[in-house]
Amino acid sequence: MDNNHYSLLREKMVRLQILSRGISDSRVLETMRKVPRHLFVPEGLIELAYLDCALQSSSGQTISQPYIVAYMTEILQLEPTDRVLEIGTGTGYQTAILSEASNFVVTVERIPELHQSAKNRLETYGYNNIICILGNGYDGFAPEAPYDKIIVTAAAPYIPEALMHQLSPNGRMVIPVGSGSQELILVTKDEYGEIKEENDLSVIFVPLVEK
Ligand code: SAH
Repeated sequence: MDNNHYSLLREKMVRLQILSRGISDSRVLETMRKVPRHLFVPEGLIELAYLDCALQSSSGQTISQPYIVAYMTEILQLEPTDRVLEIGTGTGYQTAILSEASNFVVTVERIPELHQSAKNRLETYGYNNIICILGNGYDGFAPEAPYDKIIVTAAAPYIPEALMHQLSPNGRMVIPVGSGSQELILVTKDEYGEIKEENDLSVIFVPLVEK
């Protein structure tokens, strides 16, 4: 299929799944229109890439529903100067979205095959402001800390302490919390380091594996 076919599907995805549900940040909409999601899903699922649902990736993990990717990206309020930490690279789709909308991204994945294929994919498609780390991200990634924004795409029973520390003053973090039923939590740190947590949407993510 030609690229035009997929850009039409992408435009439809943005209109019917994302704009219609109230996402209005123009940079989020622009990146969702731009990043070729079909190149991030497993080969057999290419024609399902732009549907309004999560899909299975390899190794029993998932690629999140487009709306959830857009929603989490919007509440991060990304700036072009931001340094971003992502835990749970998975397919690298969310990573590509972050890469388009910020200055620099560190992404951590614990499953070697997923890490390697996301890294290859991101390099091949020219996303060159990303460092892909193989390892457990429960404690974040201290060597590049602090981060203006942190996004966790797997659910933790509670917010890992290390991630709180690695968030910059005036930083924002979005993380699904809970076992069984989960809520997306928005953590904000003010300029004095004071932390505030707000419960947001109910979500379903695979578990964030503890060390
Ligand atoms: N954002 C991904 C979705 C990832 S699913 C995408 O767009 O495709 C969650 C991912 O988190 C899985 O790949 C899983 O292996 C990874 N993961 C779970 N616990 C982890 C941990 N402690 N450290 C790093 N990665 C972890």
